[in-house]
Amino acid sequence: MKNIISCLFVITIMLSPYVAAEQVNLYSARKEALIKPLLDKFTQQTGISVNLVTGKADNLITRLKSEGKYSPADLLLTTDVGRLYRAKQQGLTQEISVSEAITKLPMNFRDEQGHWLGLSLRARPLMVAVDRVNVQDVANLEDLVNPQWKGKVCIRSSSNIYNQSMVASLIAQQGESATEQWITGLVKNFARPPQGGDRDQIKAVAAGLCDVAIANTYYLAGMLSSDDETTQQQAKKVRVIWPNQADRGAHINISGVALAKNAPNKAAAVKLIDFLLSEESQLWYAKTNHEYPVLAGIPWSELLQSFGTFKTEQVQLGKLGELNAAAVQLMDRAGWK
Ligand code: FE
Repeated sequence: MKNIISCLFVITIMLSPYVAAEQVNLYSARKEALIKPLLDKFTQQTGISVNLVTGKADNLITRLKSEGKYSPADLLLTTDVGRLYRAKQQGLTQEISVSEAITKLPMNFRDEQGHWLGLSLRARPLMVAVDRVNVQDVANLEDLVNPQWKGKVCIRSSSNIYNQSMVASLIAQQGESATEQWITGLVKNFARPPQGGDRDQIKAVAAGLCDVAIANTYYLAGMLSSDDETTQQQAKKVRVIWPNQADRGAHINISGVALAKNAPNKAAAVKLIDFLLSEESQLWYAKTNHEYPVLAGIPWSELLQSFGTFKTEQVQLGKLGELNAAAVQLMDRAGWK
């Protein structure tokens, strides 16, 4: 009897409108399958529920803007730093109070004013045909403009933010004119007009339509671990080459999160950020979407290890957003469709 009474008491408390359960409202440009399992774990561990709204990053930014101070959003999650920067520029974000987990993040993965930070690392190296390309023939991005690669380079459209961020990063490190020269040479060596996504560039190399592509590693990793035999076979025909290892390092980007300007659940939002930076979550990203941890000392999955270790660019990633417009302009001028 005593048990029943205490049970009823607990249920009453749970149903009471006066006891507001902690929650976080997350606007996510990352697909549900690539975030929901982590959010469920977070809820299990903390009792904080997460309301997930997924959509394209630009649409979520527009939504945040139109909701203004009535926006329920606490966090905005994107898969490219360019969009986090955009949200900040539009005044839609605020400073995240720094937790212990956050202090461990390298400074170039954090906004200078602390409005956003990286949650997982993505690398964009060269991907070459195993049977047609000698590793020593292409050590740097700069090599891709050599006549040797005429009609042999595949890359997706310049409207894609991964390419825009890559070019912006080059501008940050080498200036506009050197970057423009490189892009102009690169476009001349395109095997075909840019089309498709990163995975399609890898498939094009496998099919012999081109010899070299530039793509994010998690696409190749996803193909290698695919259940589909044909996809796996295609991926095996392609190898990663880490460019610019003797100088600036390979291009990287982040998936990351910004704290919304009018976040109604700030404290809970920071708890979620901490959870996403925990070893458990970092390992999950590495295993599930084959991304690299943003924190040092976290082991890589076997697949990531198989691509080898590499030196990364040291650019403050906010620069990629800052120089986005300049990058788009250069690509446009060079005829990169
Ligand atoms: Fe992607």
